[in-house]
Amino acid sequence: MNDNPLRRLPSVDALLQTSRGAALRAGYGHGPTVEAIRHVLDEIRLGVMGGEEPPDWESILERVEAELVERETPTLRPVINATGVIIHTNLGRALLSEEARDAMLQVAAGYSTLEYDLEPGRRGSRFVHAEKLLSRITGAEAAMVVNNNAAAVMLILAGLARGREVIISRGQLVEIGGGFRIPDVMRQSGAKLVEVGTTNRTHLRDYRDAISEETAMILRAHHSNFKIVGFTSEPPIGELVELGHEHGLIVAEDLGSGALLDTADYGLDHEPMAQESIAAGVDVVSFSGDKLLGGPQAGIIIGRGELVERLKRHPFTRAVRPDKLCLAALSATLGHYLRGEAVEKIPVWRMIAMPIAEISGRAERWAASLPDGMAEVIAGESTVGGGSLPGATLPTRLLAINTSSPDALAARLRACDPPVIARIEGDRVVLDPRTVLPEQDRDLLEALTKVLATAA
Ligand SMILES: *Cc1c(COP(=O)(O)O)cnc(C)c1O
Repeated sequence: MNDNPLRRLPSVDALLQTSRGAALRAGYGHGPTVEAIRHVLDEIRLGVMGGEEPPDWESILERVEAELVERETPTLRPVINATGVIIHTNLGRALLSEEARDAMLQVAAGYSTLEYDLEPGRRGSRFVHAEKLLSRITGAEAAMVVNNNAAAVMLILAGLARGREVIISRGQLVEIGGGFRIPDVMRQSGAKLVEVGTTNRTHLRDYRDAISEETAMILRAHHSNFKIVGFTSEPPIGELVELGHEHGLIVAEDLGSGALLDTADYGLDHEPMAQESIAAGVDVVSFSGDKLLGGPQAGIIIGRGELVERLKRHPFTRAVRPDKLCLAALSATLGHYLRGEAVEKIPVWRMIAMPIAEISGRAERWAASLPDGMAEVIAGESTVGGGSLPGATLPTRLLAINTSSPDALAARLRACDPPVIARIEGDRVVLDPRTVLPEQDRDLLEALTKVLATAA
């Protein structure tokens, strides 16, 4: 028993000196290759000590290469969204228009007037960029942009109500997802939460009774991702504004998604619009940049000039300021609204407005290019997502794949490159053309063909 099998394993150097080892080193760099070899040899040693035969050099190098490929694959990768959820938070929310992408590229590649005023030739403010556009579109006196809507809500509370009371309906103490809970945000901001009404019903007199010397603000938060049905009531925003202003209070609204176009024009429920809140006299309104607006991740604050000015000077603002890529993309996206071309140019709206005939045509083409009897086109529903329009759906056509194990099939689609994210309905895997870009059709069909060929 003098033949210790561990001795038969090659050294790191010996592997590096093989021609395949040299090729890996050239492709992935010396450090990473050495690290991967060490890692693989460690694993093999454990196996050998457990009684396994030492593998030959070629299979060791094979494993080293697989390890290197895996380490190089980024964790943030493009995917094909075939779920039919248009604003899919886990898949990156809104896709940007071509103009927005171009604008980002330009400021990314070169210097810009991010904080530079060309005329006097000196320091300017990054807050000017999207603001005028936002004011013109929404009718608000002033606007500012921060990192996201969560930051916007936090800033509004910390900047305008710290140490004082904020009245909010119990029906609006919502959790948005990703751990964003209105009551927690209020606590963090230093504002004191005063809950009024009940989960399903809050009346104007509930708000009135809660007003005290300590009250700074009435806050209304959009329910976003759920719907209370049945015996419900909440005072309309106009009445809250009247009550608040009678008592010298700030009336603020967290719209969540916030729309600049009317979703009701596309067969959906009416999602509250930023313009409506301003017209109703709300003092400060916040909403997301990458939900129904269809732009980059951002939090938008619009409202009275004097209040927005106070927020701009707040120390917290520096910590949540937007970057130049965001401002470039946001300005370009807002430009589409000003020019009246949002529905044609902004992907979120294009998907919402997509005619059923177009969806149906693509689903039929997908079905026709797959082996006979594998898939059929069925009626189904797409959703808007992104915490907007809970329960509202758009009629669609789905490619439905019959399979004995839908979970396994969906997992294999996710393992493709690019990964395809599908939906499971009952015992079928379904794919919705509404959220798949036309230029992704080829990759999608390649993935399906591959997966179905081995599933058969
Ligand atoms: C989505 C949402 C937020 C958070 O917005 P982010 O831009 O994701 O930070 C806050 N409030 C409401 C009501 C929302 O729907």
